[in-house]
Amino acid sequence: MSDQPQALWLAAQQTLRGMLKTELYNLWFAPVTARCLDGDTLTLEVADEFCEFWLKDNYLDVLRSVVSRAAIRPIQVAFAIRPADSVAAADSASDRPVVTEAASERVAPVEVRAVEPLVKELPRKSEPLFNPNNSFETFVVGSNNHHAHAACMGVAQKPGHTYNPLFLFGGVGLGKTHLLQAIGHHVLANKKNARIGYLSCERFTNEFIEALQNSQLPKFRKKHRELDVLLIDDIQFLQGKERIQEEFFHTFNALHDAHKQIVLTCDRPANEIQGLEQRLISRFEWGMTADLKAPDVETRLAILNKKAAALSVKLPDPIITFLAHRIRTNIRRLEGALVRVAAYAQLSGKALDLETVETLLREILQEEGKVAISVSEIQKRVADYFDIRLADMTSKRRPENIAFPRQIAMYLTRQLTEHSLSAIGESFGGRDHGTVLHACRQVRDRMEVEAKVRQDVGYLEKQLTR
Ligand code: ADP
Ligand code: MG
Repeated sequence: MSDQPQALWLAAQQTLRGMLKTELYNLWFAPVTARCLDGDTLTLEVADEFCEFWLKDNYLDVLRSVVSRAAIRPIQVAFAIRPADSVAAADSASDRPVVTEAASERVAPVEVRAVEPLVKELPRKSEPLFNPNNSFETFVVGSNNHHAHAACMGVAQKPGHTYNPLFLFGGVGLGKTHLLQAIGHHVLANKKNARIGYLSCERFTNEFIEALQNSQLPKFRKKHRELDVLLIDDIQFLQGKERIQEEFFHTFNALHDAHKQIVLTCDRPANEIQGLEQRLISRFEWGMTADLKAPDVETRLAILNKKAAALSVKLPDPIITFLAHRIRTNIRRLEGALVRVAAYAQLSGKALDLETVETLLREILQEEGKVAISVSEIQKRVADYFDIRLADMTSKRRPENIAFPRQIAMYLTRQLTEHSLSAIGESFGGRDHGTVLHACRQVRDRMEVEAKVRQDVGYLEKQLTR
């Protein structure tokens, strides 16, 4: 069979991965493979009927649209159940472990099906899978990450005995989640029944709130405090959440006292997380701290070559070099560009020239160029969004419909730029740093309780960072 359907599906998966929550993606989309591309129909292979129904019910339109986008022409999506014998083969080939948040709560897919008929929501008990691609074997070590890589290896080989906790930090798309999951893979490969908790900070928060509401705190605590390894991704989301910090503090202590491994990732150093309790900051710094930086050009080339080999694509050297030189700040983006180009090359069957590549990657290259956002850009976007005058970003006017958007703009400036509080205050009509701090707190607090605010801020943030 040709590689065409695979390349197309990989490109589509790439888009889906960027669109969906990791857990949702890993559970439903990562295990799907492409069987064939017949004319305008791409047939996807799924594990069972349940997956087929669920995907059709919930995601058919989305699937059609991402696949069509990747193919640059309209494509229909059909499903086929993977033959039983190839399930085992596929599973062992990809070495995809069924990782549970607590191994004791492992739920076989068959059981999910028996107790949960076709649900629209994610089955409650379904557990996230580690992405099979995020292993140590697929991780390229360069000068930007060798320290972090070595620390993760150490921890994976002797969990709880080397550095505890291990605190990994670095910018978006630089391999934090990859390394975190690689630790999970490695520990499981050595000890099949290891109890590994892998969750985002957001999920920890949600589970805690749910447990609180349902009077199930003891169960929640037992689940998280009796693990061998706790892997928490994006710990910066603890910021400003006092009650969750308190809970996490106790989870941390229970595990640490029992010499159980804790690994945390974060988009910045612990002491730069606003509104994080000092006692947590100091605990996060107890063990080993390692940062991930943007890769240098040699590492980018090595990553591209490795990924191209994994995709079984061969791209001309000038194209690989072009990608490595133009996409510097984010490995996810680098990978996205490669997949896009590879899919196009395979689908069109034409030899690629740099001009085509540049057109193909226009959006990605634009994103890459946009890493520096200015305050005035943020002010303008926010003012447009809330339909207020740009001048009101710096005015003294205080009606709520003006003051709150202004606070959102200050909050976003704090999040998306490197400016100090006083510099931000200065740009917003000569306000002082206390006003900016108050604005940030205000926005955070309201995001916590008001879905609308969360949505507005989330939307703006996305617009500004893409
Ligand atoms: P982060 O969590 O830091 O935002 P991820 O771990 O999700 O970033 O990495 C983004 C993408 O880049 C993933 O697909 C990951 O596999 C890939 N990646 C990052 N670093 C490396 C590396 N050193 N070698 C190979 N792939 C990498
Ligand atoms: Mg991540």
